[in-house]
This record gives sequence, C-alpha cells and structure tokens, in this order.
Amino acid sequence: MKAAEFRYERPESLAEALALLEDTDLDATPLAGGQSLVPMMNFRLAMPGMLVDLSELDDLKGISEDGGGVRIGAMTRYVDLAGSDLIARRAPLIAMALPYIAHAAIRNRGTIGGSVALADPAAEMPALLLALDATITVQSSAGSKTHGAADFFLGMYETALEDGELVTAITIPAPAPHRRFAFYELARRHGDYAMAGVAVSATGAVGAGCTDFRVAYFSVADRPVRATAAEAALDGKAPMDGAEAAVAALGEIPFAGDLNAGIATKLHLSGVVLKRALERL
Ligand SMILES: Cc1cc2nc3c(=O)[nH]c(=O)nc-3n(C[C@H](O)[C@H](O)[C@H](O)COP(=O)(O)OP(=O)(O)OC[C@H]3O[C@@H](n4cnc5c(N)ncnc54)[C@H](O)[C@@H]3O)c2cc1C
Repeated sequence: MKAAEFRYERPESLAEALALLEDTDLDATPLAGGQSLVPMMNFRLAMPGMLVDLSELDDLKGISEDGGGVRIGAMTRYVDLAGSDLIARRAPLIAMALPYIAHAAIRNRGTIGGSVALADPAAEMPALLLALDATITVQSSAGSKTHGAADFFLGMYETALEDGELVTAITIPAPAPHRRFAFYELARRHGDYAMAGVAVSATGAVGAGCTDFRVAYFSVADRPVRATAAEAALDGKAPMDGAEAAVAALGEIPFAGDLNAGIATKLHLSGVVLKRALERL
C-alpha cells in the first residue's frame, strides 16, 4: 500500500520546524529517520496531513561532553552513536546495546530521538535511558522542558510529549567511579525486536559487593520498567551472589504479553536475561 497524500516540509531552522508543528489541523508530524513512521504511513496506520522533515536541523545533531556526561542531539543516528568514542567511554551501556538494535540498514537512518519519541515498549533505547538515569529535553515554540526518563515513558507508544513539542536532546550523566554496565536480550533472530531484554548497572569493584543497582527491562511490559525489588535483592552483593533472589523478586513487574509471548513466558525470560546480564556485569 502507499501512504495517503501529505504535505512535505523540510525546514532549515528549529524555530521554523516548531512553527510548522503547531499546525494541528494538518496533524503536522516530525519525520526523523523514517524507519518506523514511513512503514506506518505505508500501512496507513499513520496518516499525517503534513510531514516536517528534521533532517536539515544541525542543532539537533551530534554528540558532545556535558559536565562529564554526554549530550546527544535527537537527530543523531544509531550509526553515529556506534562510531563515537565519547559514547564508548561515557555511555558504554549504549555502545553495548547498539548492535542489537534492528539491522545495519535501519541503524544508518534511525535516530535516538525517533526511538525516544516513538516509545515502542520493545525498543532498547528507552530502557537504556532509564538504566542510565538520562534526561530528555523537549522544545516547543513556547520554550523547553526537561523530563527524567522515568517520567517520560507513560505507556505503549505514549510519552510526556505534547502537541507541537519536539525531542531535541538526550543527556546522560557522568558515570560514577567503578560504575559497571551489562546488557542482554533474547530475540528470535539477530536484529529482530527482543522477546525480553535488560540493561543493568551497579557500582563496585570487580569481585566485590555492588551498590546502587539499576535493572531496566524492555519488551516485558507496556513501557520500559525498572525492577526495583530485584535491585533491592542485589544491593550489597556481588552480582551473581544476588542473582537467585533478584529473579525471585521479578513478580513485581507489571508484565504485558505481545505477539511474541504471553505473560508467563515474559516472566520466565526476564529471569533468564537477568542472570545472563549479571554474569556479564
Ligand atoms: C525491520 C525493522 C526492525 C527494527 N528493529 C528494531 C529493534 O530491534 N529495536 C528498536 O529499538 N527499533 C527497531 N526498529 C525501529 C527503528 O529503530 C526506528 O528507527 C526507530 O524506532 C525510530 O527512529 P526514526 O529516527 O526512524 O524515527 P521516525 O520513524 O522518523 O519517527 C518515529 C516517530 O517519532 C516521531 N519523532 C521522530 N523524531 C522526533 C523528535 N525529535 N521529536 C518528536 N517526535 C519525533 C515521529 O513523528 C514518529 O511518530 C526497527 C525498524 C524496522 C523497520
């Protein structure tokens, strides 16, 4: 099928883009990498009357240092994140997960801002941002706001974004000394959306007890979720010493089934991916 008719705009400034996005009559919709939006339009699951292509907005591109952490413009593509030394050093969890996000052709076009705005519960990036305690900056013609990742993802394909707002940047705080990270997902084929996946981080020297665990899941609920009871069960222990207790605490997660698996399978797979991530940690 082909997309329904739409007007196409490619603004050259952020101000111009934000002004165009105020057109609610035409359901003005941002176009980033198009890797999700264009298929949705071709299936007529989305029929915006106007596409606002963000590709000329250099203000929204790039990766820079930010107080020891890192700031990533919304239009930064996965392929650019994968090639970034700053991401490898300051946000290694993202570097670990990138090869699992879709396929190379999609990573060449797909953007971090597109993934964040879409809020697919099976996507890796929202859960990574939750694990990293990242913030998401959004802007409209009226000004800008910053949300913590925990307050931004509200449900399946649902975020705190309001009409006329764009995601402009994602900021990841500096990692604490001895902060460690691990990532694990299970998918039917490499590059498919995961059936269940988890990002884990904790502070502690190798072989010692760790503190401040963050365990963030994707593809198990209607949004990315932290497993706080599992985090508490791990606290103060070397990762594998707390693994069984953490798995036993996973019942707190508000599991949701999808086309891949029902709730019982999601619960089982969550335990499997957590143990494997803790081994890596
Ligand atoms: C075959 C296939 C496999 C895939 N596998 C995976 C996978 O395993 N994991 C995964 O995470 N993703 C996967 N994806 C999705 C891919 O990662 C998308 O690129 C991504 O989710 C959306 O990014 P985009 O830049 O292409 O956004 P677009 O498709 O351009 O936009 C997505 C949505 O976000 C909105 N939007 C975009 N940018 C902004 C912004 N700055 N501010 C506000 N709203 C904005 C758009 O209006 C649209 O509603 C897959 C896609 C395909 C086609």
